[in-house]
Amino acid sequence: MGRHWAADDYVSGILSGDRVVLGRAITLVESTRAEHRELANSILEKCLPHSGNSFRIGVTGPPGVGKSSFIEAFGEKLVREQARNVAVLAIDPSSSVSGGSILGDKTRMEKLGNLANAFIRPSPAGKTLGGVANCTHETILLCEAAGFDTIIIETVGVGQSETAVSGMVDFFLLLHLPGAGDELQGIKRGIVELADLVAVNKADGERLELAKSARRDLAQALHFYPEKPSGWLPKAVTCSSLTLDGLSDVWSLMLDYQQITKANGWFNENRKRQRMSWFSSQLSQALERFFYENDQVKAALQPIRLSVENGELSPTQAVGHLMDLFQTAIAESKK
Ligand code: GDP
Repeated sequence: MGRHWAADDYVSGILSGDRVVLGRAITLVESTRAEHRELANSILEKCLPHSGNSFRIGVTGPPGVGKSSFIEAFGEKLVREQARNVAVLAIDPSSSVSGGSILGDKTRMEKLGNLANAFIRPSPAGKTLGGVANCTHETILLCEAAGFDTIIIETVGVGQSETAVSGMVDFFLLLHLPGAGDELQGIKRGIVELADLVAVNKADGERLELAKSARRDLAQALHFYPEKPSGWLPKAVTCSSLTLDGLSDVWSLMLDYQQITKANGWFNENRKRQRMSWFSSQLSQALERFFYENDQVKAALQPIRLSVENGELSPTQAVGHLMDLFQTAIAESKK
């Protein structure tokens, strides 16, 4: 494949389900180079009418809870028993913070990755959360156009990535460990509230009883959360990626959720809201870039910052100056 591929070449490859072409298109989406972005945008535009037709599942939980083991076992089950086409996108925010990668260090989901109807894609290292979120959003659309009807988005539960992911999926699954409080596990406050389903994982062997009682406690706690606009009452189950117990329950609850929310209109309403909030955040980002990349703004920003710091200018005055300067610069550039 040469470098002269046009958008149409990518699009026909993606629509025919060619995973190599899909992978390359995702690389373009992830690129920050202007010519890549441009090509990615026209590929996305042409794929958009073929997207949307999947169930988007977010999976989160603290490191070590068993996310990749779960996704491997669960994904394999869906491919083999439910004839689903499963794409897994793994977001790894740690890579941008530490420079190392939690996901990259392990050989992840090899068995699932080898199945013909599965596709696994880790997200790139060294990006901002906003950047990662945009890429993931666009990658979902490409995977759908390539015929994947089940998209699983894995996020390491260490940052704000869970909130970002819950804003781009239909269903949010939290994996929990048996026998430890949320805080001890490093589950952030508010995350349980986002979940449509909490699964106490590793419910096998010695931990089975502990897992069962953790499930009961969680089920009770879920009762006290405010009702969700989806009309769905979040559930708690136990499961094990080792014995595969409980995985069928997880899937059948997901199907129940789909049925209920499609019937009451929430499924589409939620997608609509997600598109609008994606649009708003893209627009804000574009405006910010436009502003901060302006040469006059760049030159004036540091001295104005100093004046605010020293108390010579009030923040309001400073913002006024910068906006005037920016507007003049734009007007000048049009002449
Ligand atoms: P992640 O960091 O959340 O992706 O967790 P991993 O999937 O890498 O699993 C962490 C460890 O827990 C590994 O050693 C797994 O073998 C183990 N593990 C994962 N799921 C289960 C399970 O259901 N039962 C048991 N007993 N161990 C599990």
